[in-house]
Amino acid sequence: MAEKLLRAGMNVARFNFSHGSHEYHQETLDNLRKAMENTASSAPSCFDTKLRTCRDRKSNGLLEGWKPVQLKQGQEILVSTDYDIKGDEKMICMSYKKLAEDVFPGSVILCADGTITFTVLACDKAKGLVRCRCENTAMIGSDLVEVRKLLGEHAKSILLMSKVENQEGVANFDEILANSDAFMVARGDLGMEIPIEKIFLAQKVMIYKCNIHGKPVVTATQMLESMIKSPRPTRAEATDVANAVLDGTDCVMLSGETAAGAYPELAVATMAKICLEAESTIDYSDVFKRIMSNAPVPMSPLESLASSAVRTANSAKAALILVLTRGGSTAKLVAKYRPGMPILSVVVPEIKTDSFDWSCSDESPARHSLIFRGLVPILCAGSARASHEESTEEALEFSLEHAKTKGLCKAGDAVVALHRIGTASIIKIVTVK
Ligand code: PEP
Repeated sequence: MAEKLLRAGMNVARFNFSHGSHEYHQETLDNLRKAMENTASSAPSCFDTKLRTCRDRKSNGLLEGWKPVQLKQGQEILVSTDYDIKGDEKMICMSYKKLAEDVFPGSVILCADGTITFTVLACDKAKGLVRCRCENTAMIGSDLVEVRKLLGEHAKSILLMSKVENQEGVANFDEILANSDAFMVARGDLGMEIPIEKIFLAQKVMIYKCNIHGKPVVTATQMLESMIKSPRPTRAEATDVANAVLDGTDCVMLSGETAAGAYPELAVATMAKICLEAESTIDYSDVFKRIMSNAPVPMSPLESLASSAVRTANSAKAALILVLTRGGSTAKLVAKYRPGMPILSVVVPEIKTDSFDWSCSDESPARHSLIFRGLVPILCAGSARASHEESTEEALEFSLEHAKTKGLCKAGDAVVALHRIGTASIIKIVTVK
């Protein structure tokens, strides 16, 4: 069944740890790995679990009991430069030792990516304390940051996806998003916590914010619910999937339909068909303009290059954007600007001036790309691997051949290629031979 689901269009597998034992999930993971091998395809595993941080771990700069702290507009709070204290609603700490010397009454301090504003009332230089007034009601928390720390070395190959399931999460969405790599609109639990008539708006706002930050977003739950029992979805369900795509979601998710339904393969194939149809109706230049109007100013050189590649590909009506990328970040920035064509993300592990080492590729950046709209990663496996000393041009040729065999482009098509040579980054239009 895992093989059938992969062939039908599944590109991420979620393991829901609210159900089943670890042994059960291990068996499913083993099956999935075997299925990926047999079908020469790839799907990242998404482990969905409620993470709790524990109270007695030795760490600094934290909130007491690892609990988020509710701050109220107008309340006073002390900011301490003693990074050993555990913060609460009366006092929080920061690591900048000279804070009390550098600010003065009337100064403004922005916290948590600018979502919380403090006005300084008084400074005690000797004690390293700054008394502030909180200018807005907000939640301050260290949960996500600590989870990342807990993952240690593994954090490099794991994306943290947050789920918002209640009103508190909706209210603190900006802070949660700032600390997350990806996001899930968990409409099941959300629908029990906020009025049902408000879910559509929460979905649209959250997807919009994820889009403008270039963070992938999943829309989940009851998308094709009736397919648990029936071979055809309702019209409303089919329209819901298409609308999520038009809202800008990167992924749409099936739950009971594939976990316990009678038509799992058909549910995946039906969903894939609806997504393709919805994507074909999008006005991509309009979407590009909208994302550009919310883009950071000034833009980083990489983002500027990525957005230029999308503008070029849209206006040249290119069949494909080809990105030679190392950790995958260039390709993800290209995906942020939502081009009207697929992005072939060729993940290369190391760029040595103008040659690539394909032989020791870490597959996690390639797998992660699968949760970004439009990204198609090349898996550097088996015969697809080029030799150690392949040049950039040869790597491009290899990628174009691969794209042709996958039906992503054909002879005569224009392809926009984005890659580095030494310290320079290059965008070029190549014609497929
Ligand atoms: C949800 O609540 O929408 C959700 C995705 O979570 P779960 O399927 O784990 O209940």
